[in-house]
Amino acid sequence: MTNQNMKMGTKAVWAGEKEYLVHGATQVPVVLSVAYNYDDMDEWYDVATGKKKGHIYGRNTNPTVQSFEDKMKALEGAEAATSFSTGMAAISNIFSTFLVPGDRIVSIKDTYGGTNKIFTEFLPRQQIDVVLCETGNHEQIESEVTKGCKILYLETPTNPTVKITDIERMAKAGHEAGALVIVDNTFGTPINQNPLSLGVDLVLHSATKFLGGHADALGGVVCGSHELIEKIYHYREINGATMDPMAAYLTLRGIKTLHLRVRQQCENAMKLAKYLQTKDLVEAVYYPGLETHPNHEIAKKQMKDFGGMLSFAVKGGVDTVRDLLPKLQLANRAANLGAVETTVGPARTTSHIECTPEERAAMGIPEGLIRVSCGIEDIDDLIADFEQAFNYVESV
Ligand SMILES: *Cc1c(COP(=O)(O)O)cnc(C)c1O
Repeated sequence: MTNQNMKMGTKAVWAGEKEYLVHGATQVPVVLSVAYNYDDMDEWYDVATGKKKGHIYGRNTNPTVQSFEDKMKALEGAEAATSFSTGMAAISNIFSTFLVPGDRIVSIKDTYGGTNKIFTEFLPRQQIDVVLCETGNHEQIESEVTKGCKILYLETPTNPTVKITDIERMAKAGHEAGALVIVDNTFGTPINQNPLSLGVDLVLHSATKFLGGHADALGGVVCGSHELIEKIYHYREINGATMDPMAAYLTLRGIKTLHLRVRQQCENAMKLAKYLQTKDLVEAVYYPGLETHPNHEIAKKQMKDFGGMLSFAVKGGVDTVRDLLPKLQLANRAANLGAVETTVGPARTTSHIECTPEERAAMGIPEGLIRVSCGIEDIDDLIADFEQAFNYVESV
């Protein structure tokens, strides 16, 4: 069976590993060696110049890291993939690969906080023109793209208000304008959404989140055509934001259960979202699986399930958040997401800590917004936990 005709769960378990196994081991080894030894000077030369497969130096390639890249390639249905030390390294290295002073990039206001910082702080100082459109306003994005741009950069669903953008429609608009279309698929996961099959050029992930799934390894990855990935790889191998082999191994191991984890996380998110809608203290619930979500229909069209991320706004703003969150027993109050444990945090402290209150307000992120990354716990226990926390807040 080839990788192409395996279903997602089978790919998650088996794809990308076989050629890296040694001595009959059933698991990919963690190769910590920084350099590789050659007795044959001609062979060394051929590997170093890319004429022959092999490894030279850890900043360039590593077998454990490559196995992770091969698995991701299979999961995203891509020709090629390359990896990074973090998700932010993936994003910044992609921009550095393709953007030069004078270029224009079109994106949305609701990207991940770090990405937004690149747009507002770092790209402008390199004379790159950044245009940030209202997230979900497809007409505005199309009209900005038509004016000409090098890159159309999207994230869907977004962090933390889980807004949805129509990937297929945006890929078409981007390509008509000759732009490179890139999607951050961290929230989608390859299980729920494959942007390459919807026409985009590059799909990237913070591997730190759902892919690894256990909040114990940092990483980033980008998948696409041989031609584009070769260029990004070249920038990264020289500039050095290489993924660590141990992180690659932990992520590889995490991905083996990705389909099972994501299935449970989606189920928990849907049930928790519906429960939160019934609470008096909750002003609004944001989850693409709810029919009340403004782009529920687009989400239904482009996603297999709606993901493990949701957010909700509480009455009383920061004061309520301060009372409610410490009462939860089955949730980490932490900055990460996508882990097997439920993780909660205010947007002002997590995804958008880099922004000022004014910037958050401009992005439509209330100070009382709580982001929930649903874990794989039993949903009855999660709801009971939220229920006792709400009861406490209502009693004080
Ligand atoms: C966390 C995250 C990133 C950044 O990834 P790091 O691994 O933390 O550098 C980028 N995009 C999204 C959507 C994220 O959630």
